[in-house]
Amino acid sequence: MLELKELTKSFGGNLILDHLNLQIREGDVLAVIGPSGSGKSTLLRCINFLEKPEKGAITIDGFFLDAEKARRKDIVELRKKTAMVFQQFNLFRQKTALENVMEGLVTVKKFPKNEARDRAAHFLVKVGLEDRMGYYPKHLSGGQQQRVAIARSLAMEPSVLLLDEPTSALDPELVGDVLNTIRMAASEGYTMVLVSHELEFVRNAANRAIFLEHGRIAEDGTPERVFNNPRNERIKAFLTRFYTSRSPEFNI
Ligand code: ADP
Ligand code: MG
Repeated sequence: MLELKELTKSFGGNLILDHLNLQIREGDVLAVIGPSGSGKSTLLRCINFLEKPEKGAITIDGFFLDAEKARRKDIVELRKKTAMVFQQFNLFRQKTALENVMEGLVTVKKFPKNEARDRAAHFLVKVGLEDRMGYYPKHLSGGQQQRVAIARSLAMEPSVLLLDEPTSALDPELVGDVLNTIRMAASEGYTMVLVSHELEFVRNAANRAIFLEHGRIAEDGTPERVFNNPRNERIKAFLTRFYTSRSPEFNI
């Protein structure tokens, strides 16, 4: 479904992704964890060429792309197979919730307007925003805006949904609804790569977790195994620090 081969990216001489190999299957929900600066966002952004990897290959749903040979039309094709949810929602401010979800359906998928509208409405209902379709982003809470962004992504039927800290910009009381929306998508079989610091959520929603360190995958396993029984001492220390700083009541 998604395969990364020897994916390599550096910034200013710093190797961020170091010949990284990864394979995920359809329906997998892969959690990417790791310290700040470990390359989690870069990994997601390389998968859809928001950052151009220097080397390596990406295969999504049978579409193969060698990073060194990628041309514009290949990148367009690759992007059609992914959708990305960002920390900062990235909605069009001058468009309503409904118009935001319709946009890609009309411009990228070439749906006729009325079909795009029906489909957009369907997905907004799915994320619990049936009563907010005509609202502009500034009249929506952060959690509602993020659910619009998720509806927009799901409506595009991506082969892989990429989520980069989708709840990190939200007030704590708004996080739950967004996590429920992601959980719903996971249970419906969407294939996802999720960067999240909501480790409790990740533990429940993901079926696999990887830990990034020095541009490589330092741990790979079920969330249960990676969190409860990490092989690497540094990862153990990271997780312990993480839990004690975020949720002191939780011990691993
Ligand atoms: P994470 O998401 O795990 O916190 P990032 O992928 O954002 O990490 O960043 C990994 C490293 O790459 C960091 O050292 C960061 O400063 C650097 N980096 C990320 N994006 C850029 C960029 N566009 N230009 C230069 N350096 C970058
Ligand atoms: Mg990041």
